[in-house]
Amino acid sequence: MEMINKGTGSEKESRPATPQPHFIRNIIAADFESNKFGGRVHTRFPPEPNGYLHIGHAKSICLNFGLAAENNGLCNLRFDDTNPTKEEQEFVESIIEDVRWLGFDWGDRKYYASDYFEKLYEYAVQLIRKGKAFVCDLSPAEIREYRGTLTEPGRESPFRNRSSDENLDLFQRMRAGDFEDGSRVLRARINMASPNLNMRDPVIYRILHAEHHRTGAKWCIYPMYDFTHGLSDSIEGVTHSICTLEFEDHRPLYDWFLDELGVYHPQQIEFARLNLTYTVMSKRKLSGLVADGHVTGWNDPRMPTLSGLRRRGYTPEAIRSFCERIGVAKRDSMVDMALLEHCLREDLNRRALRVMGVLRPLRVVIENYPEGRVEELEAINNPEDPAMGTRQVPFSRVIYIERDDFREDPPKKFFRLGPGREVRLRYAYFIKCVDVVKDEQTGEILELRCTYDPDTKGGYAPDGRKVRGTLHWVSAAHALKAEVRLYDSLFLKPNPAEESGESGFTDCLNPNSLEILEMCYLEQTLAGAAPDRFYQFERQGYFCVDPFDSSPDAPVFNRTVPLRDTWAKIQQAQKKP
Ligand code: ATP
Ligand code: MG
Repeated sequence: MEMINKGTGSEKESRPATPQPHFIRNIIAADFESNKFGGRVHTRFPPEPNGYLHIGHAKSICLNFGLAAENNGLCNLRFDDTNPTKEEQEFVESIIEDVRWLGFDWGDRKYYASDYFEKLYEYAVQLIRKGKAFVCDLSPAEIREYRGTLTEPGRESPFRNRSSDENLDLFQRMRAGDFEDGSRVLRARINMASPNLNMRDPVIYRILHAEHHRTGAKWCIYPMYDFTHGLSDSIEGVTHSICTLEFEDHRPLYDWFLDELGVYHPQQIEFARLNLTYTVMSKRKLSGLVADGHVTGWNDPRMPTLSGLRRRGYTPEAIRSFCERIGVAKRDSMVDMALLEHCLREDLNRRALRVMGVLRPLRVVIENYPEGRVEELEAINNPEDPAMGTRQVPFSRVIYIERDDFREDPPKKFFRLGPGREVRLRYAYFIKCVDVVKDEQTGEILELRCTYDPDTKGGYAPDGRKVRGTLHWVSAAHALKAEVRLYDSLFLKPNPAEESGESGFTDCLNPNSLEILEMCYLEQTLAGAAPDRFYQFERQGYFCVDPFDSSPDAPVFNRTVPLRDTWAKIQQAQKKP
């Protein structure tokens, strides 16, 4: 599989994604030219409500709604709800919420394939009358056996030559509930010798005595996907029916139904589905992760679902930009997760409020700073956007800094704090470490004693002396205590779906995909933070409030994505010979 890894350069250099030509845009342009659909562009996004939408669906959503929008066309939302045993109202609602959140609008065109059940039944009757469909009594296993293989033709069902009248009667009785599940099916009568297995008399209706989430017990026969899909497109007047590559071999069948019935004929176009590194993208696998408790739910922030990404702090803008940037092609490829994160950082960099938050606190007492004194220091809200203004941050004698920002024995190129060293506190003063207080038993560092230079307010020394490190900090007396959840990729292997260990793809789950830090000290500004706000904790990454688990008394923040860590890079470079 080809690897796509574009645009992981500096956020500042890259521009917002501008529409690139691709083969579907070209097809639509050509159709305008030839007036194929009378200058109309009408697409649809057709999810099956059997799970939550994931980032792969976002590609399809952006493509379908995007193509409609850029051509003054329409895009429908259609639930492909023909499988009552796997579908639920919960999924319908989550899909509606997710597509809206991504920024798309279907107007009054929210449809359900189940709305067409009566119409589809009539179409099936028409096929029977034409001698193009028959009721088959073979068992599912027999049907499979008769089907043949890629190299051998199939065999015709012994029921293939039933009269129209007999077929009509049996089909009517299938609908009336006279037969058990699996005892009979309605099949298209096409060609058992076709090199395309999909054309070997495919099943178009099956008996299933199951309650449907919308039609209840009204039906006990349900149409199959291939039959339903093209006819639904036709009923809705869709022009370009865009689907993923695995349906390419189904296109002759799509066309066959429409042609045999002589109805309006949309054009099916296939494109390559999105695959992303370090995650899985099939609803079956994702629902397995939920069911087996590997994640807390469909909206776990580690999931590639839209609800998970939203909870993690992804923005619709970042996802749309990603979907534009990956392009649309005919060939399967694997996109690097780093590209998705790049698009996210690019967007958050523009809009996130900068704050200071200490995740792994180390107490620092500034010995020469007067007890009880508090200074309000001015801090910049977003250097990318002066309009976001400034805020006041309190400074006092006892502060917290990041444990990682101190080393008793600083290695080469470590420019942060160490015994006897001087660093700058962001927006505040230079401080110098004069003593290290340790637990006598364990040797653990309990606090640092420092002094500050009152002449360095704002971070510059009048005598021109320089310091190389600037640390973030939070005043102890003013800090907001919070839980912070750090996420890493859910899988350790770039392509988990390819892993075939004992339990398949779950073998390479990352045991450290979630790290919970319970005692973090954050800047006061974050008290009462709204879930739809985006923050950059300086030097740490982008964060947001967890919309479900956070409360004013016990705030919980999710790390959306880290900033790139220059120190990690230096360490890596040092490891190399
Ligand atoms: P999954 O394989 O995740 O179960 P699906 O194809 O069964 O997905 P549907 O609900 O049928 O899920 O998908 C709705 C639409 O989204 C379809 O048109 C499908 O082709 C498209 N789609 C699904 N997965 C992807 C993907 N990874 N990349 C692009 N489009 C996708
Ligand atoms: Mg599907």
